[in-house]
Amino acid sequence: MEDKGNKSLSRRDFLRIAGLSASSIAAGKLSSNSSPMTSVEVAKSHTAGNLRPWWVQTVDEPTTEINWDGMQRYDARMTARGQGFANYIGQAEADRLTEIANQVKKQRLDNNVPGYTLKDQAINAAQSAYTFGSRSFLGPQNVETPMERGVPSWTGTAEEAAQILRAAMRHFGAATVGFVELNKNTRKLIYSYDPDGKEIVFENVDEAYETDGKRVIPDKAKWVIVYTVQMSSESLKRAPTVIAEQTTRLAYGRALDIQIKTQEFIRGLGYQCLGEASSNSLGISPAFAVMVGLGELARHNRLITPEFGPMVRVFKMITDLRVQPDKPIDAGIMKFCKHCKKCAEACPASALSFDDEPSWDIQGDWNNSGHKAYFEDSIKCKTFQRENAATNCGICFAVCPFAKKNKVWIHDWVKTGIATFPFLDGVIRSMDDAFSYGAQKDPEKWWQLDLPEYGIDTEQTTNDE
Ligand code: SF4
Ligand code: SF4
Repeated sequence: MEDKGNKSLSRRDFLRIAGLSASSIAAGKLSSNSSPMTSVEVAKSHTAGNLRPWWVQTVDEPTTEINWDGMQRYDARMTARGQGFANYIGQAEADRLTEIANQVKKQRLDNNVPGYTLKDQAINAAQSAYTFGSRSFLGPQNVETPMERGVPSWTGTAEEAAQILRAAMRHFGAATVGFVELNKNTRKLIYSYDPDGKEIVFENVDEAYETDGKRVIPDKAKWVIVYTVQMSSESLKRAPTVIAEQTTRLAYGRALDIQIKTQEFIRGLGYQCLGEASSNSLGISPAFAVMVGLGELARHNRLITPEFGPMVRVFKMITDLRVQPDKPIDAGIMKFCKHCKKCAEACPASALSFDDEPSWDIQGDWNNSGHKAYFEDSIKCKTFQRENAATNCGICFAVCPFAKKNKVWIHDWVKTGIATFPFLDGVIRSMDDAFSYGAQKDPEKWWQLDLPEYGIDTEQTTNDE
């Protein structure tokens, strides 16, 4: 990726300007609402039960406008994922593109192209070698229930339930966890049909069950558990290569482990937990993540979190254990997207919107209508992935200014600034360009990095202060 920004701005100049601006922001903040902020490492707040920087505010309505009355439950078979892509472009064309992708991958392997060498392709393949079991709606149901142990089910307040679930799931590997209650609106975010063609229905029954034709959610299972799994920023910044793709596969593998363990944990408490029967099933992940305040919907029509930027994957489950719901957030992310457009510029497939404002108009039936978003052209995206990248892509994730490492002070300053002073968006975007933060990193050097486990920073949301 070429640096398109202002090369004449030196790092020294930048730090000087940033220091001045950060002081101004601190002073402004102190005088305007007496926030105790004394530096960019500022007071933290709790939203979605997670420890958050102070500039993440809870709100009653998400920063994505929703017309609940105009929304229907969406059929997961309509997405452009998997077989859905072939449904839009025809099976013959899908097969042709798959063949091209295989050829490109083989050519790059033969030519030892960085990011596609044998070791790169071997680690990518290895990430799909799941050892944890398989996804299922009802879960493995192996652990002892309270009844089998001869004791009553666990009881506690909704707040206590949320707290122990969050603690367990973070220990299983989730980055952030939030909850939302299913009502007549949020039920519309549950798919009408799963990707495998089974209908998802709500019934007034005590126990969830599954037949050849349907998956049944009891009406009393009213709480959705939404969680993120971190991807390795250092890996994804090698997009589009297989070394970048393998972090996505790793995230899905870890999510599977988290799902199974959470289903068994909740069973062990005496309640039901219904999971994704296959990848990307059950409901619309980014929509649920927005509703529980794990992040905001962004220009690339995916989630951006305050903690990890776009470097997460989102998953969900449903339980009849009553938990305290969370609220959406406004961290200035959607506002920033209106001016930034960096992902749209970087997208080699021209699949992302350059519009100033989000729109109610979808790009195709692969989009769910009823909310205002920057809808993407998924067909262009998927075609590029097969014809050119021969992997999934993720350039739009990698170039995003929110994709920087969270612990770097300047990142906090950037995010602090935009939440408080939206007019800084353009300045910060220029600074981001100037330092080429969006440039693709060398895939070959990835192998020399001394990365922590899973290539991620797991210390970002601890509340042990
Ligand atoms: S994944 Fe790649 S092709 Fe698809 S929208 Fe993002 S940058 Fe564009
Ligand atoms: S690159 Fe810019 S416009 Fe795109 S999602 Fe990130 S912040 Fe938003």
